[in-house]
Amino acid sequence: MHFSELGLGPEVLRAVEEVGYTSPTPIQEKAIPWVLQGRDVLGCAQTGTGKTASFTLPMIEILAQGRAKARMPRSLILEPTRELAAQVAENFELYGKYNKLNMALLIGGESFGDQIKKLERGVDVLIATPGRMMDLFDRGNILLTDIKILVIDEADRMLDMGFIPDIERIVGLLPKIRQTLFFSATMPPEIKRLADQFLLNPREVTVAPPASPAATVTQALVVVDEMDKRQALRHFLKTDDVKNAFIFCNRKKDVATLHQSLVKHGFNAGALHGDMVQSKRTETLEAFKTGKLDLLVCSDVAARGIDISGVSHVFNFDVPFHAEDYVHRIGRTGRAGKSGRAFSIASPDDGKLVLAIEKLIGKEIPRVLVDGLESPELEFEEGGRRRRGRGAAAPKKDKAEVHRPEPRRHQDRRPRDQGEDVVADSPEMDAAPRASAEARPPRSESRDRRDYREDRRGDERRDDRRDDRRRRREDQDDDRTPVIGFGDDVPAFILRAARPPKPAEPDPAEPEV
Ligand code: AMP
Repeated sequence: MHFSELGLGPEVLRAVEEVGYTSPTPIQEKAIPWVLQGRDVLGCAQTGTGKTASFTLPMIEILAQGRAKARMPRSLILEPTRELAAQVAENFELYGKYNKLNMALLIGGESFGDQIKKLERGVDVLIATPGRMMDLFDRGNILLTDIKILVIDEADRMLDMGFIPDIERIVGLLPKIRQTLFFSATMPPEIKRLADQFLLNPREVTVAPPASPAATVTQALVVVDEMDKRQALRHFLKTDDVKNAFIFCNRKKDVATLHQSLVKHGFNAGALHGDMVQSKRTETLEAFKTGKLDLLVCSDVAARGIDISGVSHVFNFDVPFHAEDYVHRIGRTGRAGKSGRAFSIASPDDGKLVLAIEKLIGKEIPRVLVDGLESPELEFEEGGRRRRGRGAAAPKKDKAEVHRPEPRRHQDRRPRDQGEDVVADSPEMDAAPRASAEARPPRSESRDRRDYREDRRGDERRDDRRDDRRRRREDQDDDRTPVIGFGDDVPAFILRAARPPKPAEPDPAEPEV
């Protein structure tokens, strides 16, 4: 099939051709005609399927007719993270090159002033994270009564991040007569309930069973003691011909510590997590995209949808708590038909998590061993009792291969003079991180999970508030007129000459001394 058969106009087709797409992906083929007909669409599709163009292309076509009024956007796209929102905005610019549409990106951490100015000019497309969108609405900068098309993207991630109450509030403020496009990688009951609530007689479009990793990604898993995880990671980084890699941790605080450790060991690494200010997040992601950084240590904020082509590796420094996150994380490599490699580093406690992933993807993750590191067994809980083993799907120990260096395909970007023997195993360099790993009390899974959920839930909203406070402070700092006391506004009574006080009347009851 060709794009021209989908009902798109010449401007959009020209832009698509210039981007270099030759034929629509299955989700585009199925969804675009329905969107153009004005139908509601319920799309079960993950990122990487071409989902963004499946709603942006027909939206551009529909919005080409008509004009936006000040503060009254004509369409709204809600995204769970700032990075995804920015990416959708980039797509809009690309595909809408030959259509004169105004777009505003409303995300936290950026100046309110600029966003308000754009809204004042009138926007056809508003792309926003829920927190910032509600802030601007509550300040009276947006009127939602003219929204004709609503897109809720990555609904299951919204649920994960605690955004559903915001989404319900936003949808309650929109006109009842509108077109709604709702996308989610998975359809748990809570998401299905929302879809039933928001959509009217939708066309359902499903592509690729959710949670199946791309065949282009070679996977491997190593089991090591908790305190050996960093050494295992460094081993892979130095021996597996890593051109560039995402390294995922489950918690934000671990992102920072692992990042420091890698930098200390001479790796060209950056860090990305939800506690960083937005300008730093954008700058770091850009540095990784353009190759200034080889490694990006990150939380799951970077797991979904971040579209960087040519990432050679993904490392799960922690096995993710949610099995679906495994699929999202490793999907950052092996994109656009290129091959990629994904290594997961598990400690014995991760037995249950590894089993859940293997059940979800329907196959075992091949085990590897790292020379010089002990390979303990995974532990599983069965009826409250701990059992050691390899998991139902796992191979016998003698089937686990020793990880051998990959033949070099990429330019040598390893840290210079930092061979395995020199720095990676240097006791001084490693002392602090190892000590902290050893000093850590035995891992309580429920606490870890709590931290992890905390990290994810409300990240964006909390960050928005913090970034806004910082920006307000900066705005105030910019106004450098010194104001001392009342400044120029000294009340008149203060400037009036004071009368001398009357001498006090002597108290007759008091004897004079
Ligand atoms: P998405 O699922 O929207 O994040 O898209 C994933 C990747 O597929 C992005 O890099 C898009 O540029 C790319 N893409 C989208 N549509 C097509 C297409 N029809 N042909 C080739 N690549 C596409």
